[in-house]
Amino acid sequence: MRKIHMGCFKVHKTNDARRHDGIYGSNWRADRIGPLLSTHYVESHDIYNDQNGVTHIRIKARPNAWHKDDCPFCARRCPGCDHPTTNPKGWRGLDWGGILVEIECPTHRIRCPQHGIVTAALPWAYPGSSFMKEFDLTVARFAKYLPRSAVAAYMRIDWQTVGSCMSRALHDLEPERTRRLNSLVNIGIDETSCRKGHKYITVIVNHDTNEVVWVADGHGFSVLEQFYKGLTDKQLSSLKVVTGDGARWITDCVNKYTPGCERCVIRSMSSSGL
Ligand SMILES: [Zn+2]
Repeated sequence: MRKIHMGCFKVHKTNDARRHDGIYGSNWRADRIGPLLSTHYVESHDIYNDQNGVTHIRIKARPNAWHKDDCPFCARRCPGCDHPTTNPKGWRGLDWGGILVEIECPTHRIRCPQHGIVTAALPWAYPGSSFMKEFDLTVARFAKYLPRSAVAAYMRIDWQTVGSCMSRALHDLEPERTRRLNSLVNIGIDETSCRKGHKYITVIVNHDTNEVVWVADGHGFSVLEQFYKGLTDKQLSSLKVVTGDGARWITDCVNKYTPGCERCVIRSMSSSGL
């Protein structure tokens, strides 16, 4: 084994890794392990094939002393609660040309005065995630345009995991979600069922952009009223047309909050494809 020093992190090359040098070249480490550079060291990496014949590269990392007790939510340095786990936790990253990438690192908990007892921050992952941030973000970007089943198949994850990745990446992808509520002119309000009809949600779409701008659990006047109450006077004044089925609660809300708005009754937004 030989050791390479690259700035503040080190890579210990195994015999396996040396055999793959011809494939990866000499600079891939610095580019690909960027998120680890500032707060963690890369100790070694192993390349192996699993029982399905998929090649994995497993990168073993450890935190540097300055950042090992950072809170994942506020980045404050906090007192440690316990020793690092003996079984290191693993995170999956984006594939490198078909090779499945994993980061392995021992974890421990810290006691943050603001956030309580939590697992110490890891720079490459959102709190509680088993994936690297870039993986979560990529899944979320794909899911914006592709069916969830297609994203799951391409990223080699299950269907439910697509939703979890989207939830974690949502804030980074769209930090100011309230901007969707600006300059609304023609909107559609619909109640639709999910979870095999056991649950109802209220969905509001911007007809001019075909974008969902607001969603809430349940339906009825009190639910829809939350949408109108969240709008500023300027946002309310830009509304000109509201479509939806003939539900009385939609009409009542429109009349109460935007009396000058035109109310268009359609058969059903979901069945009419809107
Ligand atoms: Zn904190």
